[in-house]
Amino acid sequence: MSEKLHPAIDNGLPKESSSFAGGTLVCACKSRPVKVKIKGQILHNHACGCTKCWKPEGALFSAVAVAPSDNVEVIENGSKLKVVDASALIQRHACTECGVHMYGPVERDHPFKGLSFVHPERFEEDGWSPPGFAAFVSSIIEAGVDPTRMDGIRAQLKDAGLEPYDCLSPGLMDYIATWTAKKSGALPA
Ligand SMILES: [Zn+2]
Ligand SMILES: [Zn+2]
Repeated sequence: MSEKLHPAIDNGLPKESSSFAGGTLVCACKSRPVKVKIKGQILHNHACGCTKCWKPEGALFSAVAVAPSDNVEVIENGSKLKVVDASALIQRHACTECGVHMYGPVERDHPFKGLSFVHPERFEEDGWSPPGFAAFVSSIIEAGVDPTRMDGIRAQLKDAGLEPYDCLSPGLMDYIATWTAKKSGALPA
């Protein structure tokens, strides 16, 4: 059985363009959409199975990437945005009409501080860097996916070129652990 992972995965991964210099994220509202301008190429794009990320209708995973918060600017209809959960690490700003998460800055002391999480499929433009791995894969069970489907889902992710991980990728886990070790003094700062 073919699972609906995410439109940007199921229809073949989108092609990155070396000339992509950023673009405009647009929410799903037919009138007065929220628009958020992103400067530069996005980083660490990946499929995410956590229950917090915004996912398109019917998709098991989100597509989520980061951009430096300094490169993120709300340019239209920002009054429609509201933070989904103010106590969360990622301050996900969602459109109160259509529900799309437009950007999620990390502001507290954390290795991801200064970065904003965005959903690149909302770009009006093509050329953004495609998902490179799948994170928090087991978490889709928390959203109600029967565990017996997991082998098939992991196989489908691998076929699509996305290594499935149950937390973040080794590179990002190492990055977080390094930050923590420098903070505790276990590694020189
Ligand atoms: Zn909207
Ligand atoms: Zn997530």
